[in-house]
Amino acid sequence: MRTSREIFKISGEPEEPEKIAYMKKAGRAVVEQIAKDPELEKILTGADFSLLRDLFEKIAMRSGVDPATLNFLGPDRIAHRSLSWSGTGIYNAQNNFIGISYDRIKERAKKFGLDPELTAVKTLCHEETHATSKVECTGENEPRDKYPYYRGDKTGYSRYIEGQEGVHEPYVQKWLFNRFNEGVTEKLSREIFLEYAIKSGKYPKEEIGKFELLERAAPEELSYGVAVGFVNALILKISRETGLDEKTVWRALIRGMYEGEDFQDQELKSLFAEIISPEFLDKLARAYSDDELDKLAVTFFMKHPAPDKKNRIRDRLRDFISNLGRKKRNK
Ligand SMILES: [Zn+2]
Repeated sequence: MRTSREIFKISGEPEEPEKIAYMKKAGRAVVEQIAKDPELEKILTGADFSLLRDLFEKIAMRSGVDPATLNFLGPDRIAHRSLSWSGTGIYNAQNNFIGISYDRIKERAKKFGLDPELTAVKTLCHEETHATSKVECTGENEPRDKYPYYRGDKTGYSRYIEGQEGVHEPYVQKWLFNRFNEGVTEKLSREIFLEYAIKSGKYPKEEIGKFELLERAAPEELSYGVAVGFVNALILKISRETGLDEKTVWRALIRGMYEGEDFQDQELKSLFAEIISPEFLDKLARAYSDDELDKLAVTFFMKHPAPDKKNRIRDRLRDFISNLGRKKRNK
């Protein structure tokens, strides 16, 4: 079974345990240094973290991740600020902590007529989805002036890469599949949030129901609403092209996120080239905004394939899905 979060050296070797321990301590220090918000403190104290962990474990296990290694974060790794200019929540991959700004959450909840505590729980579910998806950090502890220099983070489908071949080479920085990863993360975290809110037995049904109503009534106003719409359109497209039902396709996307499936991988590139178009994944990698995602959906999701092609693609995709997790994986 696979490990949920891993730290590597530039060479690809696993990082030294003492350096990993140092990073862990640094994340803890951030959490401890930020002043506690008494209202958020109360929400976190009252939250059922063991129920929430169970829900994430189920998903991770279906994706072949050893639940004992699941990078599920408890209150001791949740800072009471998002540490960003405007966001309500954040997950920091290198130092492995979540940040939540309850003052901003209260504003958003008020704007949409939602229960603020439930809105905070929903933000927590989103950030835990990032934390529990496949996380890999590489080169974090190595000197920046060593060449070739390479540093990178993987969180689910998203990739951050920076590096330089030599002192006179250009310095390259890339963020890939970020928006798409947010769409998959948000869609999954909405499912987990609803299950958690109902199973916890703490919240009135009408208050939970408001989240679902809003998702239907004003999807584009919600956090990553457009990205979720894009993921739904992609699922529908793949399902139509292959004849696989939408649930199967969605489960495969979740698995890919928990396995850290790499869309730069040749096998996946050729599969998507056949299902959608040879340029699709490259464009998806660089789609940073809602507008760009919308444009991609219009450009690539409208055509229908010939029936003979459809059977062939379906068989290939079925093979691919049944082989998920069995491939030998280098970092
Ligand atoms: Zn996110």
